[in-house]
Amino acid sequence: MHVPALSHLHAADPDVAALVEGEAARQHGKLRLIASENYVSPAVLEATGSVLTNKYSEGYSGRRYYEGQQFVDPVEDLAAARARSLFGVEHANVQPYSGSPANLAAYLAFLEPGDTVMGMALPMGGHLTHGWSVSATGRWFTPVRYGVRADTGRVDLDEVRDLALRERPRLIFCGGTAIPRTTDYPAFAEIAREAGAVLVADIAHVAGLIAGGAHPSPAGHADVITTTTHKTLRGPRGAMIMTTAEHASAVDRAVFPGLQGGPHNHTTAAIAVALKEAAAPEFAAYAHQVVANAGALAEALLERGFDLVSGGTDTHLILIDLTNRGVAGKPAAKALDAAGVELNHNTVPFDTRKPFDPSGLRLGTAAITTRGLTESDMPRVAGWIDEVVKAHEDEALLARTAAEIGAFMAARPMPGWAPTP
Ligand SMILES: *Cc1c(COP(=O)(O)O)cnc(C)c1O
Repeated sequence: MHVPALSHLHAADPDVAALVEGEAARQHGKLRLIASENYVSPAVLEATGSVLTNKYSEGYSGRRYYEGQQFVDPVEDLAAARARSLFGVEHANVQPYSGSPANLAAYLAFLEPGDTVMGMALPMGGHLTHGWSVSATGRWFTPVRYGVRADTGRVDLDEVRDLALRERPRLIFCGGTAIPRTTDYPAFAEIAREAGAVLVADIAHVAGLIAGGAHPSPAGHADVITTTTHKTLRGPRGAMIMTTAEHASAVDRAVFPGLQGGPHNHTTAAIAVALKEAAAPEFAAYAHQVVANAGALAEALLERGFDLVSGGTDTHLILIDLTNRGVAGKPAAKALDAAGVELNHNTVPFDTRKPFDPSGLRLGTAAITTRGLTESDMPRVAGWIDEVVKAHEDEALLARTAAEIGAFMAARPMPGWAPTP
């Protein structure tokens, strides 16, 4: 049950309550390796569920279009001040509804329709909103794309520079959704300067690692930093845009009134709480443990013959190329899910299979580290993955593994929920 219990929800709507409890039990009993997911604290859950959801507050602190902002203004001020202090930036906008709208705001702030934007190609590890064709950002702007080298699995900065100087994008995105290695922000900043482009560092995946000092920061290098707040940063679903003072008003205008109406004040409060948590020494220890766990898991997977894109990881994220294992990403991910290991199928760079059924698996250690797993647990995790990938059609093995993992996770408390005794 939820702790504290969701007594009103159970009384008013048993159907929804049952689904919520079912989802919680699922999160409790599984090895959650989806690289973009985590478990938030009970304090973040409470802020998210607070009466701030009742309030409209279009505009910005001190300049609202509705009355009654005596408490919402200080909440938003606090969240923004904590973001500035934690990430060492001049300005923070905490209103974007999520990562994708935050990136869209960067387009609106700096580009006209048809202008050129450069980002990492989606199948190479970029995000849809970095100019991929099915996204509005790829349809309404002119995308040029960089990737990684086939031999190293890493971004080739010379190739990025050549492309930028040839295509002259007005906006360059660095960062992505499936990048196991450190992003070189100073090098991207240099390229953007040479090309006369605005550099956006999208740190959605690594924001928590940056906050905890376990990944370099783009602050002082990128003109604009966009991030979600719910991945390694371990806050509510939401986003922020951080900028230099120079770009502050362009970005603010793009978020409101450019793209959004009223901000989600309950989310803003929860972001403030998460940012306070992320500034504590225990969070730095957490961020370093996330990276140590990913390194240990990569090591253990390599020992079992898995082929990792770029040969390993510097972050929370690992990308497995299953080509040498004779199984595609999707059936492997489905079998792993049935066996209690939750992750997602993913394209790998230069994938020879279709995006709908690609060759890779993406996994990350942010959530399992919140549950208290350490390096010494990683060989066991790799063992489960290896056995299931080997025998992915063996239903008895999948059921046995799911039970084993359920028992293993039962000893590791989950924030905000506990099994009914
Ligand atoms: C997750 C992610 C986003 C989008 O965030 P949503 O909240 O899902 O819209 C944007 N950019 C990157 C790099 C991401 O990983």
